[in-house]
Amino acid sequence: MTRLRLAIVGAGPAGIYAADILLKAEREFDVSIDLFDQLPAPYGLVRYGVAPDHPRIKGIITALREVLDRGDIRIFGNVRFGTDITLDDLKRHYNAVIFATGAVRDADLDIPGMELEGSYGAADFVSWYDGHPDYPRTWPLDAQSVAVIGNGNVALDVSRILAKHPEDLLPTEIPDNVYEGLTASPVTDVHVFGRRGPTSVKFTPLELRELGELRDVDMILYDEDFDYDDHAREVIAGNKQVLVIDRVLQQWRQREVGQASRRLHLHFYARPTELVDDGTGRVGAIRYERTAPDGQGGVYGTGEIREIPVQAVYRAVGYFGSPLPGVPFDKRHGVIPNHEGQVLHAKDNTQIYGVYATGWIKRGPVGLIGHTKSDAMETVSHLINDLGNWWTPADPSEEAIVALLNERGVEYTNLDGWHNLDAHEQALGAARGRARIKVVPRDEMVRASNRPAPSSD
Ligand SMILES: Cc1cc2nc3c(=O)[nH]c(=O)nc-3n(C[C@H](O)[C@H](O)[C@H](O)COP(=O)(O)OP(=O)(O)OC[C@H]3O[C@@H](n4cnc5c(N)ncnc54)[C@H](O)[C@@H]3O)c2cc1C
Repeated sequence: MTRLRLAIVGAGPAGIYAADILLKAEREFDVSIDLFDQLPAPYGLVRYGVAPDHPRIKGIITALREVLDRGDIRIFGNVRFGTDITLDDLKRHYNAVIFATGAVRDADLDIPGMELEGSYGAADFVSWYDGHPDYPRTWPLDAQSVAVIGNGNVALDVSRILAKHPEDLLPTEIPDNVYEGLTASPVTDVHVFGRRGPTSVKFTPLELRELGELRDVDMILYDEDFDYDDHAREVIAGNKQVLVIDRVLQQWRQREVGQASRRLHLHFYARPTELVDDGTGRVGAIRYERTAPDGQGGVYGTGEIREIPVQAVYRAVGYFGSPLPGVPFDKRHGVIPNHEGQVLHAKDNTQIYGVYATGWIKRGPVGLIGHTKSDAMETVSHLINDLGNWWTPADPSEEAIVALLNERGVEYTNLDGWHNLDAHEQALGAARGRARIKVVPRDEMVRASNRPAPSSD
């Protein structure tokens, strides 16, 4: 029987779902899958993006883990495509590859002052508080007033983590260095900026509502933002999600404020135009233009410029994919150019046989974890139908890739390694009455992977 030797690069939800769907699919060939990830732990942004105080979403890891624990997918962690293995290596040992490398960088925001000290990307901050091994251990949390630019869920995550009292994060898996960093933060005011109105936000109701539940944090809204026009009223009447969001905001407007030690301000119709230098190369204020609704769901600038003193600014204006060596890349959209997951030559849009994409690197960094499943279905169905056009590898044996990694001195981890690290993190947590404490340094992750955790008794 024909056998598909498949490499999947990226062990986030998209990569794991693709493997699972292929293994369960009706097909007339055998399958052998190797799943590579640059990190010693799988799960991508579920581990390193989803906020630590969202345990329900982090719980998706349980379902992903069940797929891996079946044992019919080999995992090679701590292996980076582009340095440890290349496209030529994959062609030599596999019939096809699916890239599921996601997106970890911040999209740019082109306004003056973004280069100032105190101006940060939300993605970098998220990577820090979620304990990503490739980011610095310390984060400069020295601002009393902070601006967050963006009206999506990542802006909410960043604002919530900044405004929340760190003791309330202690029951979560946050690493020790993150707890210590947040405890030292003098923050009192977090200002969130959206250039459009309250009925145009990209927040989801559940995530928005959570802000209002923060202990000792007042929600501050401004009456001038709620003078709805006909269009806004129509949107509220016709869209259930917007209706709920509006209800939440209206409830907050009725609340008494003034007693809390921290405040979270929501500024709508506010388009940031500049970060102002405090004279020492640091952010001293954010300048923004007041906008107004144009009656069709858009906004126009009114020319009225305002300024709020802040000492730090986080831009949460979207994530962006990174190019992979030897693989086409669409610089404008930050994705691998593809047709329903079949990767295309950048020049003439013709298919590159044997190369596929799925998840955020396929369709851009929007959508929830669940969306990566439908994505994977589409990609996998093309992979199955393309059988006649797969690569013909010189050495498709399962041992060959292991030998290659060993020869190159790559310290890869496997499924047992992940179990060891997982048990180690849980043991660290149990010792302090917590479910888990994440290990951050890569070498420590690899060390813990390579030795079984001592039993807790
Ligand atoms: C801050 C934040 C919060 C979020 N919160 C939620 C939420 O609450 N609920 C929800 O449903 N969704 C949430 N999402 C969205 C969700 O995380 C994504 O939909 C999903 O993770 C995308 O999956 P992916 O597999 O395409 O990419 P990723 O999850 O990014 O996985 C990609 C994997 O590829 C690996 N990789 C990258 N480059 C290489 C390379 N060169 N070699 C080897 N491996 C490589 C990475 O290490 C990573 O493990 C959130 C996203 C962010 C950014």
